[in-house]
Amino acid sequence: MKEFTAECAGAGRLEAMRSEVASLPGSPERPNEDWAAAALPASGSGGTVVLLDGVTPPAGDDGCVHTVPWFTARLGGALTELSGSRRDMPLSEILSLAIRRAADAHRDTCDLSHVRTPQATVVLVRWDEASVEHLVLSDSALLLEAPDGTVRAVLDDRLDRMPDEVRRSLEATDRLRNREGGFFTAAADPAVADRAVTGTTPRAEVRALAALTDGASRWVELFGAGDWADCFGVLREEGPAGLLRRVRALESADARAGGAHRWKLHDDATAVYAELSDH
Ligand SMILES: [Zn+2]
Repeated sequence: MKEFTAECAGAGRLEAMRSEVASLPGSPERPNEDWAAAALPASGSGGTVVLLDGVTPPAGDDGCVHTVPWFTARLGGALTELSGSRRDMPLSEILSLAIRRAADAHRDTCDLSHVRTPQATVVLVRWDEASVEHLVLSDSALLLEAPDGTVRAVLDDRLDRMPDEVRRSLEATDRLRNREGGFFTAAADPAVADRAVTGTTPRAEVRALAALTDGASRWVELFGAGDWADCFGVLREEGPAGLLRRVRALESADARAGGAHRWKLHDDATAVYAELSDH
């Protein structure tokens, strides 16, 4: 498991910020298609969290000569850079511009109109001294913890509202992928940024936050091991790596019991946890 911890005391402030990232591939034979970054400030008290879950296409059928990790690195890198350099720009515009940059990088070599062109779910969070901005597109989850311990989950549940058989059928999924009435991911069309769930919360109302790809959020959403507040407690006490270990243990136990729960034994799983102020 890859783990990364960063601590930063903002210049001129005693308040410390802490962020941790952990990521596990779903299978040792396949590249991890999740991508995450936590950027803490060179000065001041702002920061950014970026979390992407690359959508896995059937082999050799996506119109692209690149790989999904190539795409998520392009998109995630652009999101991280623009969130810091363009603080004047709302997150939906940053996503739009980042999608355009990633598309420009392979417009000449690849068929970007292909329905399975490389694409990803997005969680993007940016904060400064006054506010916490968020953007969620598709089925990764964002959790915001208030100073009183209340945890709010920000979800784009369009994919979850699709009937189960749609989620299991590649053809049915393709008919709804980035289509009106279906669900939306960050692929090659910058206009999809307008479909994202966005919002702004006063900084004083956010003590800590977390972002989870669906391989990690299944601790709540698939296994029902606890609610979002319980999940946040695990992240605080055991870190993102602790949550991922718990997910893998549940998956293995479920497989031994006959595997009623899931149709993909392990998925790439990534969790980011960031404390914006001391507890
Ligand atoms: Zn390509």
